[in-house]
Amino acid sequence: MKIICIGRNYAEHAKEMNAAVPTEPVFFLKPDTALIKDDQPFYYPDFSKEIHHEVELVLKINKAGKNIDPAFAHKYYDEIGIGIDFTARDIQAKCKEKGLPWEKAKAFDGSAPIGNFIQKKELADIADINFHLTVNGKEVQKGTTKDLLFSFDAVIAYVSKFFTLKTGDLIYTGTPEGVGPVNIGDKLEAYIENKKLLSFEIK
Ligand code: MG
Repeated sequence: MKIICIGRNYAEHAKEMNAAVPTEPVFFLKPDTALIKDDQPFYYPDFSKEIHHEVELVLKINKAGKNIDPAFAHKYYDEIGIGIDFTARDIQAKCKEKGLPWEKAKAFDGSAPIGNFIQKKELADIADINFHLTVNGKEVQKGTTKDLLFSFDAVIAYVSKFFTLKTGDLIYTGTPEGVGPVNIGDKLEAYIENKKLLSFEIK
């Protein structure tokens, strides 16, 4: 399986990164070794001093597709979850400076904790899903899919022009503003609406 991550999909986050608001989706990949499941801890890596949380809604692809029409994209996922796109911000800054790829900063082992999924049909309105992240009980990021620059359907259609989507692939759909550092000992909890779907510690 593969993990596809959408960058800069919320305008306020693009602004906080001093990045342009994109006119087409920006995306990158993580390997399956990035996943952390079952609320297992994240071990702070020794190659970075600035790991940031980015809380994101995650789509689980339910069938194979290529060049998917946006009108049919909703048929390619039944479940939505929540995860963290951990980013070594210090390394990413160096990569950006030199025009190098981001993988070292984005795709390292453990960089994609993933929580439980809920059925799409449990959610009242896909275009207005509320989600948030707490660190040590304090809310640090909050978003709604109302603010997406590229909808889930637009993202699926766009990405599938380049990559065949397969059953079990995950799409991290971008983070709202409020990204920030994590520290050893922190407890992160992520919610869709008021349902806690992910809870783990930084070790
Ligand atoms: Mg992200």
